[in-house]
Amino acid sequence: MLEEKLKSLVRDVPNFPQPGIVFKDITPILQHADVCSEVVIEFAERIKHLEFDVIAGIESRGFLFGLMLANHLNKPFVPIRKQGKLPHKTVSESYKLEYGQATIEIHEDAIAPGARVLIHDDLLATGGTVVAASKLIEKVGGEVAGFCFLINLAFLQASGRLDRFSTNVVSLLSYH
Ligand code: IMP
Repeated sequence: MLEEKLKSLVRDVPNFPQPGIVFKDITPILQHADVCSEVVIEFAERIKHLEFDVIAGIESRGFLFGLMLANHLNKPFVPIRKQGKLPHKTVSESYKLEYGQATIEIHEDAIAPGARVLIHDDLLATGGTVVAASKLIEKVGGEVAGFCFLINLAFLQASGRLDRFSTNVVSLLSYH
């Protein structure tokens, strides 16, 4: 079963990036082309009821499967990046981290007016990142059609924070 395979491949890295945090490292999955293909096919199956025009992936691990999935579905892919990385005119959104704050950006012309956007990231933790990404999508005239994650740290109960943008939340692996 895909969930079991993913669970066995995701590596727990204690004390990264800070003491006390156990980081879920998805890079071992990328060593297995067959599992990556299964992930894309599973995402495609689990989101097939959603109507969307474009996938937006969040830097940087959201680019990995976000682009693979967009390509598989023959949909455009839009990168949401950390501040100062996108070369053209951007729109920004800042959000709070446990310590300090972060800013993410999107190209102001990346989303056609009214386009429905599926947001993808590797992992949902507190939800701060995808809430900010959703605000960005709305600021540039798009509509959030749903979210898909490889991993949901469900014990942090973030999915409720996403409801005001979309209640369509798909994750392939949950930790309770
Ligand atoms: P959130 O904003 O608290 O939901 O954190 C999610 C963001 O932080 C995503 O962009 C993830 O890539 C990253 N992140 C947080 N914790 C982890 C982890 O354990 N493994 C991989 N990425 C993580």
